[in-house]
Amino acid sequence: MFNITKHIKVFELPRFKFPYCNCIWIDDDIGCLIDSSPTDEELINLTGKKIDLIVNSHGHLDHYFHNIDYPDTRVLMHEKDQAMAQSAKAYLHNFNFYAQVPDEKLHTLYMDAIHYRTTHVNANLSDGQIIKTGKTHFQVLHLPGHSAGHCGFLFPDQGFVFTADLDLSPFGPWYGNINCSISELIDSIERLIKLKPDFIISGHGQALIKERIISRLNEYRDIVYEREHRIVSLMYRGKHTPVEIAKHLPVYQQLPPPQQVFFLYEITMIEIHLQHLIASGKVIQDKDNYYLSSGVKPSSFDPPR
Ligand SMILES: [Zn+2]
Repeated sequence: MFNITKHIKVFELPRFKFPYCNCIWIDDDIGCLIDSSPTDEELINLTGKKIDLIVNSHGHLDHYFHNIDYPDTRVLMHEKDQAMAQSAKAYLHNFNFYAQVPDEKLHTLYMDAIHYRTTHVNANLSDGQIIKTGKTHFQVLHLPGHSAGHCGFLFPDQGFVFTADLDLSPFGPWYGNINCSISELIDSIERLIKLKPDFIISGHGQALIKERIISRLNEYRDIVYEREHRIVSLMYRGKHTPVEIAKHLPVYQQLPPPQQVFFLYEITMIEIHLQHLIASGKVIQDKDNYYLSSGVKPSSFDPPR
């Protein structure tokens, strides 16, 4: 744990490990947690502390994992992510299991492996909302793309943003839910670039980022364009279904373990790119097959700047 101010503290896990994330604890008149999945070692800091409010950046399990330990605490989450945090069926649906993984035994295996649990939610988060905890206040930034209801939090007095899962990972952004959107993701990253924060607290990996913030945000966004370019190249070479394209790993390039799960994410993220390419007129869909619109070639495919 490290302090940003007397009242704002950060629980950090400097490497990615499910189901943990970097969280903010505001130890103020109102005790507030932003995300509730610190490691067990960090959780000890909260023993005997009053947590009146939990603000969840989004509805992925590794951000609300310990909500269940605070049954009487008020929980806020964006409306668009509440279903998957409140129903196993909605979680599996949003993670594309019903469309891509016919074997239901694997659904159970996955949910058991991640220790899926639901959370109560008391109220919605909305863009622009100001949350006051006494001496501290912060503003909700709805930053969709990673999930439909994904939010970051701007601390104007301290000059930083908690960017949650727009985490500036060198591997690039994740958008493996069926309601993710490339254009929303790009807009969310651009919004962070325009905000020019003094520093960022990221949801995974090293929490405090203060060097090269704008360049790193640009690089993070450009990984999305590079993936899209690879997908267009594969389609140009005759791959027309998401699974055919996915076998060449244009998103991950190398699958981390467990590979079955990451291959599902690969397929879903390709589908999200295909929706984006359809919306921009570069791809047309014919049932399960996707084709480049006439005249679209990888060589003519310039990522927008
Ligand atoms: Zn997430």
